[in-house]
Amino acid sequence: MRDLTALPKAHLHVHLESAVRWATLQEIGAANGVVVPEPDGPLGGFAAFFEQNNLVRDCLRTPDDFRRVAYEFCADEAAQGTRYAEVSFTAAAHGERLGDLDMPLAAVLDGLRAGRADFGVECRLILDHSRRRSVERAWSTLDLARRHDEVVAVGLAGDEAYPGDPFTEVFAAAREAGLHVVHHAGEAEGPASIRQALGDGRTERLGHGIRVLDDPDLVAEVRERGVPLEVCPSSNVMLGFAPSLAGHPLPRLRDAGLLVTVSTDIPAMTGVPLAGEYALVRDAFGYDDAVLAELARNGVTASFAPEPLKDRLHAEIDAWLH
Ligand SMILES: [Zn+2]
Repeated sequence: MRDLTALPKAHLHVHLESAVRWATLQEIGAANGVVVPEPDGPLGGFAAFFEQNNLVRDCLRTPDDFRRVAYEFCADEAAQGTRYAEVSFTAAAHGERLGDLDMPLAAVLDGLRAGRADFGVECRLILDHSRRRSVERAWSTLDLARRHDEVVAVGLAGDEAYPGDPFTEVFAAAREAGLHVVHHAGEAEGPASIRQALGDGRTERLGHGIRVLDDPDLVAEVRERGVPLEVCPSSNVMLGFAPSLAGHPLPRLRDAGLLVTVSTDIPAMTGVPLAGEYALVRDAFGYDDAVLAELARNGVTASFAPEPLKDRLHAEIDAWLH
């Protein structure tokens, strides 16, 4: 069994706001007059998830706050063997909240650049937009994305009970502008949400997508089109979308011939970083190093990284295995 922190990995589905160290949150909170409680054991369920989301939002206010969490994200990812990350960030929501649309994104980009210099992790951004929020804000998100080369994609997140249809024009425009599109779909909602995301939603990957298994025809379509799935086992278990790790659909997704990648989604909340997620998968499903390397390769293949970087990472994964 090789060291999983040494396995070069691409991290495709992770929300910056849900990756903030608790100690950092406490320090930033104290400086901004927000009381952040001591963590009282592992979080569980949706209530805790929303509570923590609100807390992070209350704490992050100044350019230094955003810069710091982005920089520390790079440090933490480097320790996990992440070589390339596509970090989701709800830039327009923070910008509107703080009365300066550009500031949060500019500060995060600063932090990521410093993090790359110090820790060698290459990061790109995915600007996500909550389905519950206005179409107008989605256009603001696209506008921000178009103005920064480090932003590779935009997409929908948030409660899947809210339809994606109102945003059709936004994502068509995103694709026309040369941006990638990645939506959350098939996590809480079933095949209809995946069909919408793949159709008018123009998504190129499925954020979660685990409920594709509810419909064999859809499984065949996703396989034939080669649409990657961003599978986040610990998040699914914590939020109640999988009964347990042992009962997680990841092996069935692999057996169905789908392009399965492994991510954390909300590592500060699950307490499981990326190498830990690979370790859990190894232990739960008895995967050997060859399968774990395959999952890592899938992450690189499914990423929007430049081809030379992909080639290098594939070579490094081969070197890890052989
Ligand atoms: Zn997510």
